[in-house]
Amino acid sequence: SDSITVGELAKRMGVKANELIAELMRQGSMVTINHPLDYESAAILAAEFNHEVENVAFDEETILEVEPSKEAEDNVEDLEVRPPVVTIMGHVDHGKTSLLDAIREANVTEGEAGGITQHIGAYDVELDGKKVTFLDTPGHEAFTAMRARGAGVTDIVILVVAADDGVMPQTKEAISHSKAAGVPMIVAVNKIDKPDANPEKVKQELTEFELVPEEWGGDTIFVEVSAKQQTNLDTLLEMILLQAEVLELKANPNKRAKGSIVEARLDKGRGPIATVLVQDGTLKIGDAIVAGLHYGRVRSMTTATGSQVKEAGPSFPVEVTGLGGVPNAGDTFHAVENEKAAKDVSHHRQSKQREIDLSRNSKVSLDQLFEKM
Ligand code: GDP
Ligand code: MG
Repeated sequence: SDSITVGELAKRMGVKANELIAELMRQGSMVTINHPLDYESAAILAAEFNHEVENVAFDEETILEVEPSKEAEDNVEDLEVRPPVVTIMGHVDHGKTSLLDAIREANVTEGEAGGITQHIGAYDVELDGKKVTFLDTPGHEAFTAMRARGAGVTDIVILVVAADDGVMPQTKEAISHSKAAGVPMIVAVNKIDKPDANPEKVKQELTEFELVPEEWGGDTIFVEVSAKQQTNLDTLLEMILLQAEVLELKANPNKRAKGSIVEARLDKGRGPIATVLVQDGTLKIGDAIVAGLHYGRVRSMTTATGSQVKEAGPSFPVEVTGLGGVPNAGDTFHAVENEKAAKDVSHHRQSKQREIDLSRNSKVSLDQLFEKM
């Protein structure tokens, strides 16, 4: 099972059992050499001696049913086309927020409630019956944070470049982030309504970064837009859908959901609230889920337009309540068999995290000690 005796732990750590017994005594528990320690206690005790404990009896991946190559595991006939997930990047003041707002205002899927949308970190729009999901957290930090956690959430990057300003430092950063992530870019040359707009100059500058428009013999899609006057926004959406078709984005909606946390916060009345983006499977009310270090049961799911839904399929962003704590943006989430499994995974992760924190603390105090010497 999931425990180890004091004697066995001492042997594996290469210390005398008496040392462990003494430490446990110091912590207030009188035990013998045959006393069983659960994983958590063993990990904490070992950390005191700068050892790490790995819980081999606990196989998180089995519980989460994580398969290394899920696409290969799914039957081809189970895979369905899913909407593209899009992130808008670009230099400050080039119009990222304006573009996100303009697209949302013009195209919200569920326009009831007077088209009033709330910021949940992501939203979806519809063009000719086809959906596009936008991550509503423009900026490189969000993108980098998600990627650092291995969350390859974004399918397409919209690179916004102001036609009156051209390529700027954060434009270059966005390009290198997208390239590093292997995510294709569509260039939105914004602010074409401005008298001093020079879209040709922008195109010229971007050729240096191998972003060459089709009319110049390249394969990058450029769309000239004005977020302010809502010019060519439908063309931009069409181009996104075109690019998505090329990417052949598919997922299997008929299994337990998994995906990423887009953002999360603590609401005084409703508790932890997390915007999740389902990347595979379908998330349902009542599902037991693990998100980062936390777990719970899906109590409610709300869309960006405030509708309550009972299910959320691939590429669909929803605000979820029912978690026991607030996960981090970029954390993964998994729906699991039952609440017990969710709890086990969560506790396992928390004790691992505690070990990391403990070893960090002990390192810090050692450093401080040496500083004083
Ligand atoms: P962000 O920093 O990239 O999010 O840029 P914002 O969306 O905040 O826009 C910066 C400024 O540019 C604001 O004053 C916007 O009103 C303005 N702006 C954005 N898009 C356009 C556009 O298409 N035309 C014009 N004339 N101004 C725009
Ligand atoms: Mg902004």
